Amino acid sequence: MDAEIIAIGSELLLGATIDTNSAYMAGHLAAAGVNLFRTSVVGDNVERIAATISESLGRADLVICTGGLGPTLDDVTREAVALAFGRELEFRQDLLDQVAARFAAMNRPMSESNRRQAYVPAGARAIENPRGTAPAFIVGDERGTVIVLPGVPYEMRYLFENVVLPYLRDERGITDVILVKTLHAVGLGESVIGEMIADLMLASNPTVGISAKQARYELRIGARASSLAVAQTMVDTAEATIRERLGDHLTGEETLADAVSRLLTTGQQTLSLYEGTIVAPIYRALSGTATGLNHVRGVIVHPLDRPTDEHASASLAHAGAISAADRWRSDLGLAVQAASMPDDRGFTAVSVALCFPDGSRQITRYYDLRQPEGWDFVGTLALDLLRRYLMGEDE
Ligand code: AMP
Ligand code: MG
Repeated sequence: MDAEIIAIGSELLLGATIDTNSAYMAGHLAAAGVNLFRTSVVGDNVERIAATISESLGRADLVICTGGLGPTLDDVTREAVALAFGRELEFRQDLLDQVAARFAAMNRPMSESNRRQAYVPAGARAIENPRGTAPAFIVGDERGTVIVLPGVPYEMRYLFENVVLPYLRDERGITDVILVKTLHAVGLGESVIGEMIADLMLASNPTVGISAKQARYELRIGARASSLAVAQTMVDTAEATIRERLGDHLTGEETLADAVSRLLTTGQQTLSLYEGTIVAPIYRALSGTATGLNHVRGVIVHPLDRPTDEHASASLAHAGAISAADRWRSDLGLAVQAASMPDDRGFTAVSVALCFPDGSRQITRYYDLRQPEGWDFVGTLALDLLRRYLMGEDE
């Protein structure tokens, strides 16, 4: 079955509210084995909502709408669905009774505008909403089925889990499962990873996708099968292939910070940091995980040095790593120092250095630090240098 989602509400188009409902439903539809091929966002306008619904029904069997079911005049989803199906809105006394009962239970008077919520397109199946006043409904014709849910996330989620998922299973016979597993990788470019697993990324089941975040990568494996056991086998097989190809660039189910934290725990080693910038990229990267800072003895933030080039930044990073380890009497010192000026292409030399009881190692790379995100790459570089040392890898 092919589905589409339509999120309705002008606030979503104004950037005032983030459309979290679509993301929530997308995740659950995938897990339920429904193909979601498109999501749309449309404002509170009868004609545009109706047109969007008709377009979606031209492509998909199932359209799930969320939003625009409130009592006020700006919520026009009911009218729009009626228009898309060429039907009248029908007053339903049973729905008004439900809304009235809810106000009575809250010991509040029901306003006249709540009557609007007792209307649904003729022939629709109304769905009681025990979490709010707006009833949801299901309506369909030969083109397909539209399920209309409220926009309030807590109401939408309740109805999605208690009405939509059972509907898909019991009335539409959707029993496939889609199992998704996320792996983390580091230390390669997105295009390089993409080439290493190109064949997997072109396959349709299981699917493999990459998303990049400041030199860290998430690889998502999604397998669809008639049972969880079969889907699990497919995911495992794809994972084994990815592991073999990416080797130690893969941190697996752990993020980079988690992996570093685990390795420090296993080796019972303590760490101190030297940050040659108030941005403190290593500290920030380690804070990304709950246990990341457990092994950190102390941090020296020393933003005043002004190394002129990569040689100066490398030697200051090296000295910084040693002085941090020394100062806090820790096993390891990890340091970052950037040159004070970018080169004429806008790239700045950044050195990271790691010192350990019998030696040290370091890397210098160039980053665009005019964007704050540039520092996230530096944090990743430093943690990966540490991770590789802790795994016993050669330089
Ligand atoms: P509505 O049903 O359109 O009156 O929406 C009620 C409230 O739910 C809105 O004021 C938003 O705060 C929230 N909301 C509506 N649609 C969404 C959505 N797609 N994602 C997240 N929140 C939403
Ligand atoms: Mg609205």
